Amino acid sequence: MTPDARAALPASFQRRGLLFILSSPSGAGKSTLTKCLLAADPQLTLSISATTRPRRHSEIEGVHYYFVSRDDFEAKRGRGEFLEWAEVHGNFYATPRAPVEQALSEGRDVIFDIDWQGTLQVIEKLAEDVVSVFVLPPSMKELKSRLERRAEDSAETIAKRLKNAATEIAQWHHYDYVLVNDDLDRVFSELKDILAAERLKRKRQTSIEALIDSLLTEGKTLTGA
Ligand code: ADP
Ligand code: 5GP
Repeated sequence: MTPDARAALPASFQRRGLLFILSSPSGAGKSTLTKCLLAADPQLTLSISATTRPRRHSEIEGVHYYFVSRDDFEAKRGRGEFLEWAEVHGNFYATPRAPVEQALSEGRDVIFDIDWQGTLQVIEKLAEDVVSVFVLPPSMKELKSRLERRAEDSAETIAKRLKNAATEIAQWHHYDYVLVNDDLDRVFSELKDILAAERLKRKRQTSIEALIDSLLTEGKTLTGA
């Protein structure tokens, strides 16, 4: 958010919104964790991506993704409608820009399930607002069995995702936090802790200066200084 946009926020907003990015190799558990966080935390809004990937059985248009053709994707990209975009596992994915700008301007937090390429682009544009988390699987064997247990992708797609996992894992060092998803409840709790601490950061406490001024004025009155 630009300083001007921030200054335009109503005083009632206690703090500046943040952009909470979760990335991982496919199957490590970020969609599951995102779902848990969204259910537990009404302050979070999901950024719904656009993708050219075919819809899975369990997915709903406009809830999990906006499913678009390659032509549509390219037209939207050409019109500058995306905050970031990337090709992942042979499909295109992108974050629509307008809902993110709207949420930030209203002081709301946004959660993203995007890959490392998209994360770097969002950091480049909005570094101050980003909190990024990389989720690792406990082992590659477990990653493979999670992809198989999810049972939403073909054997060919699973093989491709498993092959790409090493390249994705190698990007872990770009992230603020790295978590090992061996125990869903513990990682969920760690994510809530990270969010709680990040929300309290001084730079996000946009209305704290008014309180500081009033504390100092009150202090002067009390002490006669
Ligand atoms: P991603 O979004 O990273 O591709 P998902 O959230 O879809 O991964 O998780 C892949 C599969 O692994 C799902 O079937 C999910 O229920 C399962 N899963 C996620 N976290 C764990 C965990 N800690 N232990 C066991 N299974 C898990
Ligand atoms: P899936 O096909 O399993 O839903 O997602 C595949 C990969 O694409 C995951 O790593 C996911 O985080 C990533 N992804 C989903 N949406 C976006 C997006 O909008 N931008 C980018 N860069 N990656 C995305």
